[in-house]
Amino acid sequence: MKSLILIGPPGAGKGTQSKVLCEKYGIVQIATGDILRANVKENTALGIEAKGYMDKGQLVPDKLVVDMVVGRLGQDDCKQGFILDGFPRNVGQAEALEGVLNDCNRKIDAAIGIVVESKDLVDRLTGRRVCRGCGASFHVSYNPPKAEGVCDLCSGELYQRDDDTSSTIESRLEVYERETRPVIDFYIEKGLYSPVEGVGTMETITKEIVKAIG
Ligand code: ADP
Ligand code: ZN
Repeated sequence: MKSLILIGPPGAGKGTQSKVLCEKYGIVQIATGDILRANVKENTALGIEAKGYMDKGQLVPDKLVVDMVVGRLGQDDCKQGFILDGFPRNVGQAEALEGVLNDCNRKIDAAIGIVVESKDLVDRLTGRRVCRGCGASFHVSYNPPKAEGVCDLCSGELYQRDDDTSSTIESRLEVYERETRPVIDFYIEKGLYSPVEGVGTMETITKEIVKAIG
């Protein structure tokens, strides 16, 4: 049983690594961005409220996101462990998470930071294409699908996320520096943080993360 947090800027590869780690440890991925996008697609009240923030590259208000995560953590499949991908994204969320886990006698085992320089991130994000079917990520130059626009894994249609455009990317990177970077200090103080170099092959990065988890 492992309860993990992946921290890293947009485009660091949190989603890709989370999926591999979930398989390896038999735990579930809780990707707040994915859950929010599913809400937007289904036009739920949460989705309607969240969309404006997401399109501008801003954080969705804590109250909404924290309630969403608490609801998800309460589901049975999270009992075996989980990876939080994209949460907590500011210190308020980190404190809220700690409170909820304390209440049910659980704790985070490790917070892993995926470190990538910002000049590499813009490139990764503008070229990113995501599968509508299974959520797999590709990149037009660094990790192109075998057939353009088609997912290698499930033959689903690949699309570009609404927020993977240069103007929104800039504000997402700013928000990361201002709001999310302090979350790293939060977990350093608790002795839970390990940074991992996020540049290299997917397999090498996975190995480094596994080593850091211990
Ligand atoms: P990325 O890490 O590539 O920026 P995500 O899919 O994790 O992408 O998030 C996309 C958007 O969803 C964010 O820019 C933000 O608007 C919203 N979001 C996701 N997670 C959170 C969170 N924990 N708190 C607030 N907003 C969030
Ligand atoms: Zn797919």
